[in-house]
Amino acid sequence: MSIHVLPAQLASQIAAGEVVERPSSVVKELVENALDAGATTINITIRGGGRELIQIADNGSGIESDELETAFLRHATSKLDTADDLAAISTLGFRGEALAAIAAVSRVTAVSRTADDQAGTRLQLEGGHKTGRELVGAPKGTVIAVENLFYNTPARLKFLKSSTTERRLIDEQITRYALAYPGVRFRLTHENRITFQTTGNGDITDVLVEVYGSDIARQLLPLSEERSVDQALSRDPGAIAVSGFAGPPGLNWANRSRITLFVNGRWIKDSSLTYAVIQAYHTLLPTGRYPMGIVFIKLPVEDVDVNVHPAKVEVRFQRPNAVFAAVQRAVRETLIAESPVPAVSAWSIGTPDNAGWSTGRDAGAFSAPRTPDQASLELDWARSTPETDLPAPAPDERPFADAAARGETAVGRKLPIMRVIGQVGQAYIITEGPEGLYLIDQHAAHERILYERFMADLQNQTVASQGLVAPAVIQLTPAQAGLVESTLPTLQNLGFQIEPFGPNTFQIRAVPAIVTRGDPARSLQAVIDDLEQGSAPLQDKIEARIVLRVCKSAAIKAGQMLSQAEMEALIQQLEASQNPHTCPHGRPTMIHLSAAQLAREFGRT
Ligand code: ADP
Ligand code: MG
Repeated sequence: MSIHVLPAQLASQIAAGEVVERPSSVVKELVENALDAGATTINITIRGGGRELIQIADNGSGIESDELETAFLRHATSKLDTADDLAAISTLGFRGEALAAIAAVSRVTAVSRTADDQAGTRLQLEGGHKTGRELVGAPKGTVIAVENLFYNTPARLKFLKSSTTERRLIDEQITRYALAYPGVRFRLTHENRITFQTTGNGDITDVLVEVYGSDIARQLLPLSEERSVDQALSRDPGAIAVSGFAGPPGLNWANRSRITLFVNGRWIKDSSLTYAVIQAYHTLLPTGRYPMGIVFIKLPVEDVDVNVHPAKVEVRFQRPNAVFAAVQRAVRETLIAESPVPAVSAWSIGTPDNAGWSTGRDAGAFSAPRTPDQASLELDWARSTPETDLPAPAPDERPFADAAARGETAVGRKLPIMRVIGQVGQAYIITEGPEGLYLIDQHAAHERILYERFMADLQNQTVASQGLVAPAVIQLTPAQAGLVESTLPTLQNLGFQIEPFGPNTFQIRAVPAIVTRGDPARSLQAVIDDLEQGSAPLQDKIEARIVLRVCKSAAIKAGQMLSQAEMEALIQQLEASQNPHTCPHGRPTMIHLSAAQLAREFGRT
């Protein structure tokens, strides 16, 4: 082939690929435009994981009618004028590429009206070409609807994940912006259902609740007051100010995905700064566990180069070491100030592995993640007032005093001997031990038991497989079917026996013995969904992930009534576990209320 210049259409499709990789990148660009336009309300409507429709409606400045076509040209922007401006970008957008890129690979309808205009203008484009324009009634602001994304770039379309995955990526994108802009009212709708919304009242703690749930939000430790950040910046305009939230060490995960970074209101990916956050938890977390952090870095716009990457998610700092130090210091200082050494009883946190795990309120900010149920229980305790002046029971009156005296709770045993009292909320088992009361999460505990058993079987190559009397048939998407085919040997190793059974259909002939009680197709589907979430992990990681998922679906659920015998069996098995304090995902299996705490709560001390 001779060297020739590509036709404009093809060139713009190629260029578009750098900016809009997938539906969530379209969402990102359009939301950034709305924020740059000063919107205080942004409504996002999605259908088919963004492949069918992405619509962003804002109440921002709007686009002048006679500039609407220009906005869709490549390198057309109102945010940049000269090369000097490039050195001090204060808007989210500046490259003038997004609208052109999006229009090149979809069908776009844009409606916009500025405050000065009488009517709005509607512009339609297909593959970047104008197909219609008319005046319409419209509120002030802009609505951009993107349909049939990538309809003319089959190569791109082919690489999209399932609509569940694309939907998750969109959700992540929106929740990030909601965190960075608590003063903006966001509403996200998938398939006509509102799945996420914020009030726009400016209070980030409200957004944290919407994004992470009240359970986690309540535990997050503020890095510094917004006020002091502003003060620091007004004293020294060149300062690097860090605000946001750090999770207590008790809240930790197997990967870094809970660490979210923003620079001057822009979400960024930066492995070095992510590491700065992790470093701040040094010795506070078990190895292989990662904290949660939402970190807002503010610094002079001249000190950060945002023009590094077409998608603008990577930045370069003028003084990277100073930024690293500022982030690490802010997180570390908060952790030290907010959470002194956790006060815990000798055996309940016997191993360094559980250093972050804690029991009860002595530990303050270190307490384990709580569910709303646990929280209300705790509130009830807190509310009780002393009505009698009975003395606290003497130590030797405690039912387990002799067990404690025999040293059964000392080293060697990970858990004390416990007596089952009953079940609460069909989710927690109440037990009594030598040191007070324990609430055990039946699902988490069973998951831990199954996990250790499964891993031991795997190591001894004795994983039991159970044939199904009536083989189950499972119908998958082509993407999932591909995934299953490539994972067949691993699945087989773990006890699944699966055979192709028509296009994208498989027959399940046997499952790991531990899941026979459940629905085999459901268990396999859960495994597949899980595999789909990850991007080609290593072989051993795949195996570990499948084991985790299998144990999760096989474990007793919350909401299941247990007999006394079942509870006793479960507790005995938990006592025999290697790591009884946490489920395989790192959540606590139990919380502890010591006799001393009880006495204190009842005002007996
Ligand atoms: P950039 O954001 O980098 O300038 P875009 O292609 O995303 O480039 O947008 C081009 C221009 O269109 C913007 O500079 C802005 O003037 C205008 N624009 C885009 N979206 C909106 C919106 N939602 N509200 C007001 N103006 C907008
Ligand atoms: Mg833009």
